[in-house]
Amino acid sequence: MKRISSKIFAVVLALGILGCATTSKISFTPGTYQGSAPGFNGDVTIEVTVDSGRILGVRVVSQNDTPEISGLAYQRIPQAIVEGQTLGVDMVSGASISSKGIIEAATAALAKSGADIKALQSRKPVAAAKRTSKSETADVVVIGAGGAGLAAAITASQNGAKVIVLEKMPRAGGNTIISGAAWNAADAARQASVPINDANRTAIQQSITRAPHDAFEKELQATITKQFADFNAAKKTSIFDSPEFHMLQTYNGGDYVGNPELIKTLASGTLAALEWEMSMGLQVNDHIFTVAGGLWPRAHQPTMPLGTGYIDTDLKYIDAHKDQITLLVDTKATELIVQNGRVTGVKAAGPTTDYTFTAAKGVILATGGFGANKELRQKYGGAQWGDMTAAGTTNHPGATGDGLLMAETVEANLVGMEYIQFLPLGDPVTGSLSGNIEQGVEDRFFVNKEGNRFVDEGGRRDAMTKALFAQPDALMWIICDKHSYPTPQVKNNFNETIEELIQQKRAFGANTIEELAQQIGVPPANLKAAVDEFNAGVDSGKDRLGRTLWKIKIDTPPYYAGARIPTVHHTMGGLQINTQAQVINKSGQVIPGLYAAGEVTGGIHGSNRLGGNALADIHVFGRIAGASAVAGK
Ligand code: ADP
Repeated sequence: MKRISSKIFAVVLALGILGCATTSKISFTPGTYQGSAPGFNGDVTIEVTVDSGRILGVRVVSQNDTPEISGLAYQRIPQAIVEGQTLGVDMVSGASISSKGIIEAATAALAKSGADIKALQSRKPVAAAKRTSKSETADVVVIGAGGAGLAAAITASQNGAKVIVLEKMPRAGGNTIISGAAWNAADAARQASVPINDANRTAIQQSITRAPHDAFEKELQATITKQFADFNAAKKTSIFDSPEFHMLQTYNGGDYVGNPELIKTLASGTLAALEWEMSMGLQVNDHIFTVAGGLWPRAHQPTMPLGTGYIDTDLKYIDAHKDQITLLVDTKATELIVQNGRVTGVKAAGPTTDYTFTAAKGVILATGGFGANKELRQKYGGAQWGDMTAAGTTNHPGATGDGLLMAETVEANLVGMEYIQFLPLGDPVTGSLSGNIEQGVEDRFFVNKEGNRFVDEGGRRDAMTKALFAQPDALMWIICDKHSYPTPQVKNNFNETIEELIQQKRAFGANTIEELAQQIGVPPANLKAAVDEFNAGVDSGKDRLGRTLWKIKIDTPPYYAGARIPTVHHTMGGLQINTQAQVINKSGQVIPGLYAAGEVTGGIHGSNRLGGNALADIHVFGRIAGASAVAGK
């Protein structure tokens, strides 16, 4: 009798906890079990504890994923498994590989308990609570909590505004947090440690002596000619740079399509914006480098991996100013509210609440680009790139162009939508930037599947990508050596050690070039010739493929190789803005109450964005948008 009643009690208890989540009883062999599966960076091990009828606990034993990006998955999924007594839990958006790893590891562990896995998978997760409606008011409403939105929100609050930030994903960060994090700024103090070489001098001379495209280029060339003469007169030995040279490279590198006023704003404001982030606690490495497609050694990088340094800094600031800035995650803006021709608010959907936000001073669109929206990118970029539907992307899944679609309903003008940037640096499996073994432009080169160099690896992103598409299987290998990884524990930009990447077979390492060639399946003689050609270029500064960025020879084992393919990276087009980050309509007029910053905007980078200019752009214009909205500009 006692045994029967305790069984009944257990069932009642289980049903009570599970609510509507369960349908049929599932039995387990009581105990604690572990299972493993691949996470984002190496294996995830999960431990489950079960009694005869329930999952009592799910614990993460070990994992190596980046906490700022995947942390929520590690928190939410184990909880959802226990709450719902199910393996049919939702993935955490933006952390899908980690989510999959956790669920698969938990599945492997539960399988050891003898549970009916199919039945566990088919149980529904705990249903969401009933929806309610709510209205809220702030001075400024920012849509999107990536780098641009957070910079805008913080600036608006620093200028006295009460701010609400809406983020549709479960965490802040957008593409910013998963970026390689390079931030371009002419910065004489930090660039002092980068030596100038003859090839650099030639590149400067060529830039200032070519026939100018227009008055803007002519004016920049005149200014830089004087700056370079002063530089030479002072017999400087560190790299030459200036905001004007940055402008010139940005304008020329985007085929003169970018708006000169926006380019001036970008390059003249970038160092101040970086120092502003640093004043809030951002730490950057002393080392200045050239990022892929950046064309010049002016890239700064935070000490934290990927773009986590920027978002961490901003979120800490917001956390310390909760009375002024409210950040709502899992809250998707769906519609702009317009009254008498002015944008006065936003409608949004939270997990259980439908919101109407009123913005007394302005709404800032900072929703990022549309690189993860296959239909939109095909619609706009198809003419240039052909069928892109099968292409992967480096973007997070929320980069779907929502801000563009919302702004179109208020007649916002879209510019440069056809300019979509591929990077030749995507992971062959996931399309993401993770696993990229390059540490900068100067100390690596590329070979195709035949082991041959095929492009100026210091060139523009569009040129490198187009060249890669023309290679067998559009696959290339990045080749570098011990200079990039002095020890096996040194990490790439994506928080992965070269040792881990080799273990995961996402990179290869060998003590000779021939051995490396064998490992990656390219003809050893070709790879050897490619290394020799590269090293000769370091000596002479000259190159068959036109490369001008050189620093150090690839001559010190271990030698490393990592495979890469082209994937969609950045959408240069978007909302037309002026230098005050006000959104312009199709008749060329400012749309009152509407501001925009970051990848959602267009017209800055032209046809091709320089590597390292996005972080500069989103912060410079994010700050301007925040200040403009408060000032009612
Ligand atoms: P940027 O570099 O311009 O800041 P990011 O991609 O880093 O762009 O950030 C854009 C953010 O906007 C992302 O976190 C994305 O999830 C968010 N976002 C996009 N659409 C919406 C929307 N409809 N509502 C709320 N947030 C959105």
